[in-house]
Amino acid sequence: MSLRSIRSSHLFLLCVASLLIFQPVSIARAQAFVGRPKLVVIIIIDQFRGDYLNRDRAEFKDRGFRLFMNEGAWFTDCYYDYANTKTAPGHATIGTGAYSDGHGIESNEWWDASRSDEAKVSSVQDERYQLVDIPASSIPANAPGARPDSAKFLIGASPLNLRASTLGDELRLATQGKAKVFGISLKDRAAILPVGQSANGAFWIDNASGQFTTSTYYMPHLPEWAHAFNTSGRIAEAEREAKAEGTTQFYNLVGRTPAANSYEFDFAKALINGEKLGQRGVTDLLTISLSANDIQGHRLGPDSDSEEAMIVALDRQFDQFFTWLDHNVGLNNVWLALTADHGVAPVPREAAKLGIDSAMVNLDKLYENLEKELNQRHSPGGHVQYLMPAPELPYIILNKHAFEKAHVGEQAAEEELAALLPDAVAAQNPSPMPASGTAEPSQQRLPPAPQVAGVYTRLQMENGPLPPTEWGRELAHSYADHGNWFVMLVLGAYQMEDVRSWGATTHFSPWSYDRHVPLAFYGQPFLPGEYHERVAPVDLATTIAAELGINFPSAAVGRVLTDALKPVHSQSQ
Ligand SMILES: [Zn+2]
Repeated sequence: MSLRSIRSSHLFLLCVASLLIFQPVSIARAQAFVGRPKLVVIIIIDQFRGDYLNRDRAEFKDRGFRLFMNEGAWFTDCYYDYANTKTAPGHATIGTGAYSDGHGIESNEWWDASRSDEAKVSSVQDERYQLVDIPASSIPANAPGARPDSAKFLIGASPLNLRASTLGDELRLATQGKAKVFGISLKDRAAILPVGQSANGAFWIDNASGQFTTSTYYMPHLPEWAHAFNTSGRIAEAEREAKAEGTTQFYNLVGRTPAANSYEFDFAKALINGEKLGQRGVTDLLTISLSANDIQGHRLGPDSDSEEAMIVALDRQFDQFFTWLDHNVGLNNVWLALTADHGVAPVPREAAKLGIDSAMVNLDKLYENLEKELNQRHSPGGHVQYLMPAPELPYIILNKHAFEKAHVGEQAAEEELAALLPDAVAAQNPSPMPASGTAEPSQQRLPPAPQVAGVYTRLQMENGPLPPTEWGRELAHSYADHGNWFVMLVLGAYQMEDVRSWGATTHFSPWSYDRHVPLAFYGQPFLPGEYHERVAPVDLATTIAAELGINFPSAAVGRVLTDALKPVHSQSQ
């Protein structure tokens, strides 16, 4: 913000302050928030790397991505400043302007000893609530041959693990609850985490039927407009578009196609109309997380023809949605922001063809060998489970009860595992090279070899010491505590767990391809241009909060991107 704009905003504050002195409290409160714009829409593309916009820009038309790239403020070099690039932490970061050490979400699911030793919990799972208006056929108790003790309802969800307020929370606080705040996605975590605790609602789909649902945390039943959407025939239309008529796997089969994005946009339109967003004399906020790119991207990778087709289709879908917004709310009255929750690695097989050391690590075998070694050391001849199963990298969770039984404390246990990991990973055979393909690796180059770039214990992450470098800062930002002992494992660049059984590539690491995402703004306060300054997704919530004149979210560490803001006096009212 320029000096002049700071002065003019100070003048404005002085005027407001003098009004406050003489007005009754209720009137003063109504005047304290200027109510501009009518609607803020934050669009999050699930798994979308920052380089895609450059790569495919020749294909873009009209007011799709070009609305941001040509008429908005487009930051080409936006990188997450943490090392756990997963969906739940990414969405929480966008909403809160904080990292895992601030918002408390470090993974999609984790072991939480205070809740269960039997199963992991998801980042938003909350047994105190139930899912709303789920079709009977999607409830386990109704499945053919279901056990008599099968659940008669489905466990609900909430932002219970989110430890920081969001941009939406601050907008609700600033307007005494008058602003409405909603989140939409195919995935529960991606609908809930960007909008936070005070949101009016978050909507996601029942994976089997594709019907939108929510949790009793927000409301006992779907609003009439949402019920009407679910029964409108729109599901069948999406299934036809995706060539998956009558499927009972809507999330997998429709969710991985462009049809899922237009399905979400149509639900967003129904929500904006149904809740009269942007039509009530106050600023409302909607976040839309588009899941299709992630569901497809894991299977086919970032460089496939299908990825390009998805992006080009999304460009057209943006054009349609923004045109609809223009007709119904007026783009003059709307601020838009675009970003993603994480990037993705190239398919290892494809990178290996170019000679890149992109090995895969078989986690089952790695765990088997580690357990063998730990048993030999602490319970010779036994079969004690020293590691909690179902790992989700980058974290490896220790079974603290087993170590405690062996009289090994947290520091010793974590340090022992950290010391074992480099050799255990390196001992894995290099991944077999592709059997077919046009570009075989050069005979002079070594085959990919699994390797560890770093292992960090929980105690080290909580209390230091970490390297006094950017790398160390990224690690510190990745820390959240759910009562477990753990180590954080960083594999070599372009390396990952063996994903061949369920897909082709993934994202989870501190390497640049996982952290690079787009960041762009469109609307009255933003100075159009292409900006190459290094920025981060935490800057989204703080920049919008600053322009709205409201508080930053409670744990926000983002900056205000002043280069991309018009001076306050030149913004049209
Ligand atoms: Zn994601």
